[in-house]
Amino acid sequence: MRDTFLVFGSPRLEDDDIQAVTEVLKSGWLGTGPQVKQFETDFQNYIGSRHAMALNSCTAGLHLSMVVLGLEAGDEVITTPLTFCATANSIIHAGGRPVFVDIDRETLNIDADKIEAAITPRTKAILPVHFAGRPCAMDKIMAIAARHKLTVIEDCAHAIEAEYHGRHVGTFGTLGCFSFYVTKNVVTGEGGMVTTDNEAYADKIKMYGLHGMSRDAWKRFSDEGFKHYQVMFPGFKYNMMDIQAALGIQQLQKVEKFYRRRQEIWDAYNQRLSGLPLFLPAPFEPETKHALHLYTVLLDTDRVKITRDALLNALIKENIGTGVHYTALHLHPYYRESFGYQEGDFPQAEYVAERVLSLPLSAKLTAQDVDDVVKALEKILG
Ligand SMILES: *Cc1c(COP(=O)(O)O)cnc(C)c1O
Repeated sequence: MRDTFLVFGSPRLEDDDIQAVTEVLKSGWLGTGPQVKQFETDFQNYIGSRHAMALNSCTAGLHLSMVVLGLEAGDEVITTPLTFCATANSIIHAGGRPVFVDIDRETLNIDADKIEAAITPRTKAILPVHFAGRPCAMDKIMAIAARHKLTVIEDCAHAIEAEYHGRHVGTFGTLGCFSFYVTKNVVTGEGGMVTTDNEAYADKIKMYGLHGMSRDAWKRFSDEGFKHYQVMFPGFKYNMMDIQAALGIQQLQKVEKFYRRRQEIWDAYNQRLSGLPLFLPAPFEPETKHALHLYTVLLDTDRVKITRDALLNALIKENIGTGVHYTALHLHPYYRESFGYQEGDFPQAEYVAERVLSLPLSAKLTAQDVDDVVKALEKILG
């Protein structure tokens, strides 16, 4: 057994990353400024979108996406029950109602073939989540949206590197929302980015992200002459700091290097875990690039006596940290009580939620770490 705890999702930070942040601290300009602007430019170039707006989280990006969409009380947004609560909460914060549609048990993404049955006259948008980094069926989803005149907003929190038919995810919908939370593929501590080709939405998101002011702080206090700001509407305080952006610029430069390391770990798990009573991630769809954010497995409960939760605890005893992505969102108390969701509503999501666990996949992992994870699983399940 390993003698230190393997923290799930611990980011890989290198000396030059730390140096970049230190330089911002020494510069005296900590808030939103030139580093944020640079990070936005780098990110839009990487994704291939016309605009990228940095915010202090992906949750903020999802919320502002719903706000600029003009969601009204009672408007419905279709999404997946196998996601982080931020996805659904962003709809609710803007006055809307999350309408869940079951997942495909193989891809763990929203089942595009079930979306149309959930559309009502109140439906405004579809909010697909590229689960674990696997692109959703964007051809089907975009066709449905066009047919019913719906907006698509992509939750790309897991999917920075993901591509679908040669294009980055986050460029299919009107808006794409990315996360740089500590466990994600590119980290800024906390942070997020919204991508769009729509200039009006880009301007609005910038303003809504900083109190609804018409000039951002950097322009106001630069030496180009004093500029007054004007409040155009009551916005939020969602701006990213230069301290965060400096780290983001560095991490984005290493995104493919870290990806290749995770690919090695992914392949090692595929090879070494295939004999255990686990369902491993499905093969990748043709013409897609999976972002390899989460290596999720399902415990084959027909072949073992141990429950998923007992397995999680046994792994902790072996000093291996794991994650659960996710417990079914519609069964959490708030969504049951507010929207009447109950057990049995989304059988595929519930099946997965009861069996799923995510193994460590950070680019920081050593060969020894990966070996420890495999050996611990063999010991418990073998
Ligand atoms: C992490 C995550 C978010 C929220 O990202 P933050 O940057 O932490 O706000 C939203 N959706 C999904 C699917 C996530 O995994």
